[in-house]
Amino acid sequence: MISPALLERVACPVCLESAGCAECSAPAGHDACREGYARRVRCACGGPDKVRLEVRGETLACSCCGASYALRRDEGYADLGPVRPVGEVTQYADHEFQERLGTTDAEPVLSARVKADMMRRMLAPGAGEVVLDLGCGAGKLALYAGRDGARAAGVDVAPFFLARAAAAVDLVRGDLRRLPFRKGAFPRAYSLDVLEHLDGPGVLEVLVEARRAVGPGGRLFVYTHAMESSALARFQRAVNRLARRLGQAGLIDYEREALRKSDHVNAIRSHEHFEALCAEAGLEVAERRYYNVVIKAVVEDLGLRLYEQARRKRARRTEAKGGRGGPESPPRSIASANSFRASVGGLGGPESPPSLIASANSFRASVKTGRLALAAARALTWLLKLDVVLFGGVRTGPFFGLLRPGGSLTERARIHSARAGGSGGAHRGPPGLTERARIHSARAGR
Ligand SMILES: [Zn+2]
Ligand SMILES: [Zn+2]
Ligand SMILES: [Zn+2]
Repeated sequence: MISPALLERVACPVCLESAGCAECSAPAGHDACREGYARRVRCACGGPDKVRLEVRGETLACSCCGASYALRRDEGYADLGPVRPVGEVTQYADHEFQERLGTTDAEPVLSARVKADMMRRMLAPGAGEVVLDLGCGAGKLALYAGRDGARAAGVDVAPFFLARAAAAVDLVRGDLRRLPFRKGAFPRAYSLDVLEHLDGPGVLEVLVEARRAVGPGGRLFVYTHAMESSALARFQRAVNRLARRLGQAGLIDYEREALRKSDHVNAIRSHEHFEALCAEAGLEVAERRYYNVVIKAVVEDLGLRLYEQARRKRARRTEAKGGRGGPESPPRSIASANSFRASVGGLGGPESPPSLIASANSFRASVKTGRLALAAARALTWLLKLDVVLFGGVRTGPFFGLLRPGGSLTERARIHSARAGGSGGAHRGPPGLTERARIHSARAGR
């Protein structure tokens, strides 16, 4: 939906106001946006605000660049993507469409729920607050995040939203690297399974833009992964290898998982690298928990897939004997792709396994079995939460991070010089980035 409150928060994705500190202010006019955008928006002061948009009928107009953006009220979203594309274009937008065809609006369960609940615990949005879902996908998690009195708004590069999300959640099509929101528009924001799809400069741009959107006192929750590993992760990989072999033998469907991962760029090399990117974006990591998926690997990646495959086989046998169902029931070939996941209405979050493709159709057919499956899924979700409880302190690649703006100029300079003094081995970053961070804080300290 497009609420009046959303219209108060939106801004031109590419235009910066002329006001700023000595470093980032500029004479009025769009030339300054075009030429100095990256430098100005990244300014240590937090950067200038973005230019407000004026509602003109069914469009939003920018007085700086002259662009007009569509309000697609029927489809439930404002189209605020930059007129000219920025950076690498993810292929995700393409296969997303296929995936989202099957996404349902049922509550998230299993690992998607574990992530959603970690977000709610660490970000702790208050009643009445509007939280921003960065890379909201179909809007499934935004719907769930809006429980308990908080509300969610979502932004995504691909506008394939669930009908219920389009009706109940403020939605924007936009590029996370050019967020179309005013400064501090959403004091709390989260991004789940998004950063791994961006290249290094892209991750930095998203963090810079997110810092602006949450404002000086805001908080940002992320779930993503660094290219690190642990002894526990080796166990998980062994389970995955087994799953892949079973997939090759046709015993389980492994192909979709492989397809989903094919779009991962994985630019974050280590946790120090991530901290350096955060520092460069004016953010710091306030809290971090790791996600060693030991129980998930066995229960969700292996157990449930075997179960699904068994169900598919049984359904195919029934289909061979039977024919099609009545007009109200979906063709059995589709219902046969029905699975434990589909029967609870699609378990994944926006990133989630494309095993949901057929679930929309099979959903109605499985309402009855769905209740039982939902109860089972909730119980398994509880089990999966043990991964965080038991292994959340064991350093590994995937992690939940709570980020906050890295303080004032002097604060950032102080942190940096303490680090430069050799006290913080934990903050070692790759040389390139550390170098850039140093240049930046030297500039900030002037
Ligand atoms: Zn500035
Ligand atoms: Zn402009
Ligand atoms: Zn503009």
